[in-house]
Amino acid sequence: MAKTPEPGDLIRVTKGKTTYTGVVMPGTLSGSSDILIIKLSNGYNIGLNKDEIEVEILEKAAPPLEKPESMRISGKGNREVVLVGTGGTIASKVEYRTGAVHPALSATELAESVPELREICSIRTKPVFNILSENISPSHWVTLAEEIYRLAEEGVDGIVVPHGTDTMHYTAAALSFMLSGTGMVFVGAQRSSDRPSSDAHLNLIEAVSTALTDIGESVVVMHGESSDSFAYIHRGNRVRKMHTSARTAFRTINGSPLGKVEGSKVEWLKPYRKQSEPELHAHLKENVVMLQAFPGLTTEILEKMAENAQGIVITGTGLGHVSSSLIPAIQEIIKEGKPVVMTSQCLYGSVNLNVYETGRDLQRAGVITLGDILPETALVKLMWVLGRTADMEEVRKIMKTNIAGEIEDRRLLRDLE
Ligand code: ASP
Repeated sequence: MAKTPEPGDLIRVTKGKTTYTGVVMPGTLSGSSDILIIKLSNGYNIGLNKDEIEVEILEKAAPPLEKPESMRISGKGNREVVLVGTGGTIASKVEYRTGAVHPALSATELAESVPELREICSIRTKPVFNILSENISPSHWVTLAEEIYRLAEEGVDGIVVPHGTDTMHYTAAALSFMLSGTGMVFVGAQRSSDRPSSDAHLNLIEAVSTALTDIGESVVVMHGESSDSFAYIHRGNRVRKMHTSARTAFRTINGSPLGKVEGSKVEWLKPYRKQSEPELHAHLKENVVMLQAFPGLTTEILEKMAENAQGIVITGTGLGHVSSSLIPAIQEIIKEGKPVVMTSQCLYGSVNLNVYETGRDLQRAGVITLGDILPETALVKLMWVLGRTADMEEVRKIMKTNIAGEIEDRRLLRDLE
C-alpha cells in the first residue's frame, strides 16, 4: 500500500482487477494491523490486506469542528426553546470502527443538523449529559429536574429534552412528579441522526413546536405512524416504549395521546396541564426494586430482593397476582415497614384484587394497588413518595392520590374522591 490514508478519507482501492470505493474506518490503520477496513456506499464494511492493494485518496476527511458546549442559534420570531441535551440515539452517530451507535453529537450539533428549527424559533442548547439512556439512573433525574427548574424559573419559552428512548418513559414519569408547573417535552429517535432514515429531525421539529404551547407538564413527543407525517404528544407518566426498533414505538397505555403535532401545527385531543408557578420536589429514595412475578418465583428470591430495598413494586400476573406461596413473605415485608405496590404485567387494564382469593389475600397482607398505573410509573412514584415520607399510611395515601395524571382508572379515581 503506497499512500497512507486517514480515517474518514474517501478512497479508491484496487486489488488485482477489482476496485472498491469507500470511507476509511478509524482504528484499522495502526501498524499492528495488516487489514484496512473501508465502509462501502451500500453500508457494508470490507477488510482488505494492506500488502495486496493500491490506494488512491479521492477526498480528505473534513477536520472535526469544535463547537461550544452551550450556544444560541438565532431563528425566526422572538421566542426561544432550550434543548436540554442528555444523549441517546437522537444525539448519536454510527461509530465507523464498530458500526455501533454511540452518543457523539452535542445538543448544539443536533440543533444545527435540523435547519428547519430556525424557521420556528431560536434555539439555545444546554448539555447536561451525553449518555445512552440505559445508563441513566435516578441521580440523573435529580440533576435534570434541577436544571429544568432553573430554566423554568428563568421563564424560557419552551424546554425540550432529547433523550435515549430505552428509558425515556422512566425519566418522563419521574420528572412528572419531581417538577410541576412547567412544560418538559421529551423526544428521542430510533435511528441515529446521521442516517437518512432517521426520525430525529421530524421528532425534534414537532417537540419544539409542542414546547412553544402553554403545556405545563412532562410529555413525550414521538412519531405517530410509520411514515413521516405526524407525532403524538403522550403524557410522560402514561407512555411506554412498546417496540424495540419501530419509529412508532411509543404508545399511551390505557388511554389516548394528549395531542398530535404535524410540523409546527399542534392539535390538542384531550385536556392537558397548563403552565403555572414551577415547583421542584426533587427528593428520591433510590433503593426501590421492581420484581416481575413468574412461575417459579420463590420466597427466597423475593426476600433477597427485599433485603436492601425500602419498597417493592411487583408486576403481577393478570389482575395483579403472585403465587399464593409468596403471600406470607409479602406480609412480613410490609410488616417491616416496606411498602409493596402491585401492578400488572398485562399493562392494559387495571389491577383488581377483589376477584380471586389470591387477590383478597394480597389485600389483607396490605399490598397497595393503583388501578391502571404503569409499572414503571409506580416504581418512580414510590421512589419519590419514599423521598418524602417513611410513614406507611402516608405512603399509601400519597401513592393512591392522582398527582400528575398517572392514574386514569375512573372507578379508582371515584373511590379516591
Ligand atoms: N439505547 C438507546 C438509548 O436509550 C436507544 C435510543 O436512544 O433510541 O439511549
